[in-house]
Amino acid sequence: MHELGIVMEIVKVVKDLAAEQGISKVDSIVLQIGELSPVVPRFIEECFPAAIDGTFMENTKLEIEIMPGNGMCNDCSTVFNVLKSEGSCPKCHSKSFAILSGRDFYIKEIKVPEE
Ligand SMILES: [Zn+2]
Repeated sequence: MHELGIVMEIVKVVKDLAAEQGISKVDSIVLQIGELSPVVPRFIEECFPAAIDGTFMENTKLEIEIMPGNGMCNDCSTVFNVLKSEGSCPKCHSKSFAILSGRDFYIKEIKVPEE
């Protein structure tokens, strides 16, 4: 399970950013995780409390947005959801396709309390 390492890294990035911007409290952070990313959202959620324990982000909430994983068929150019179609084109059943989106994983937003 590599998710704890990823969560620790996220906490570090947010911490550095907060220090840079003079932010002392973070309400919540929003992560975007692609369906085709190797990162498992459920594990991220499970690791989060341990990663923020004892840090200034102790009360920070975690929000996760899932991005659809879309591919385009190399044979007929149909755009389809890779997971729903189980990795083959729904139109011509080709397994040759290019991934358009859904591989990424990033911090979308850091919400700070309003002054
Ligand atoms: Zn096709």
